[in-house]
Amino acid sequence: MALEQTLSIIKPDAVSKNHVGNIIARFEKAGLRVVASRMQHLSKAQAQSFYAVHSARPFYNDLVSFISSGPVVVLVLEGDNAIAKNRELMGATDPKKAEPGTIRADLAQSIDHNAVHGSDAPETAKTEIAFFFKPEENFGKMRLASSNNSCSKPSCCMH
Ligand code: GDP
Repeated sequence: MALEQTLSIIKPDAVSKNHVGNIIARFEKAGLRVVASRMQHLSKAQAQSFYAVHSARPFYNDLVSFISSGPVVVLVLEGDNAIAKNRELMGATDPKKAEPGTIRADLAQSIDHNAVHGSDAPETAKTEIAFFFKPEENFGKMRLASSNNSCSKPSCCMH
């Protein structure tokens, strides 16, 4: 099994409902380790930049408004197959279609308020981790090549 890192975001709905500890406990119970973390309130520009891949989608503006509507917790999770494992723990994008016992089935209301974000592939994990964290803020065994992949997005103020 491959040791990986992935980015998780505990979204504003889950933060406001006091589910932060519940969600992190699920990650840890499944063998994932928190190796970087921060609570922050994304600006609209940061949210637009983070979700730029969805900019042509009809739900883009709502997605940007929602993710920048309140504080989020951003985490780097490390473990064997961390990317797929986190996606399994999260459940399907639409909580109504998520397997029982997943974070979204248990804690989320709707497709646009769905509690968590998780990277979906190694390349996106690398980019998303670099978007939020400097290499020296990442305490994992495995420092991704993000250490020499500084974020080039103009609206990202983390670097
Ligand atoms: P994820 O990786 O499961 O979070 O899903 P995506 O990366 O495809 O989409 C990013 C976020 O956009 C999702 O978490 C949803 O909140 C939102 N989203 C995706 N598809 C739809 C959709 O069809 N309708 C709405 N309203 N929101 C969507």
